[in-house]
Amino acid sequence: MERIFIFIVITLFVYTIIPTMMIRLFGIAVYKKGTTAHSIALTFDDGPDPEYTSRLLDLLKQHNVKATFFVLGLKAKQYPELIKQMHHEGHLVGVHNYVHGANAFMTPKRVRLQVNNTVDVIDRIIGERPIYYRPPGGIINIFDFLLLKNFRKVIPHYL
Ligand SMILES: [Zn+2]
Repeated sequence: MERIFIFIVITLFVYTIIPTMMIRLFGIAVYKKGTTAHSIALTFDDGPDPEYTSRLLDLLKQHNVKATFFVLGLKAKQYPELIKQMHHEGHLVGVHNYVHGANAFMTPKRVRLQVNNTVDVIDRIIGERPIYYRPPGGIINIFDFLLLKNFRKVIPHYL
């Protein structure tokens, strides 16, 4: 019993805890870009939402502010007009998996499906394949380094 527990703990460390620490604490494989020392990037996750996203888009337009939206493939498919509006108004559309599940609890194959399905949904709506990716909860698994190497990985700073 104790051996099984130790095996599970070691597996979790290797599969997700150490890789997540590498990106969250040390910024390894994380996309960073700033034009000045005092610049910020606005990002919004988990949408599009039929109520809040359109209000948010109106507010951003009113203040002439651009943002990046990390969207869920399922919601993008449900509300394609909001994705079109984001794109049309100059915002970036990134991937946040198909449904909101942590990569820590998915196989590499499942993560790839989540990402590819979301990329396809966005591509069908705006005619462009997204290159930015944010894992739900900022949590990854060790295969994401290889699997998502072509994406610019953006990790939120809420630590
Ligand atoms: Zn999220």
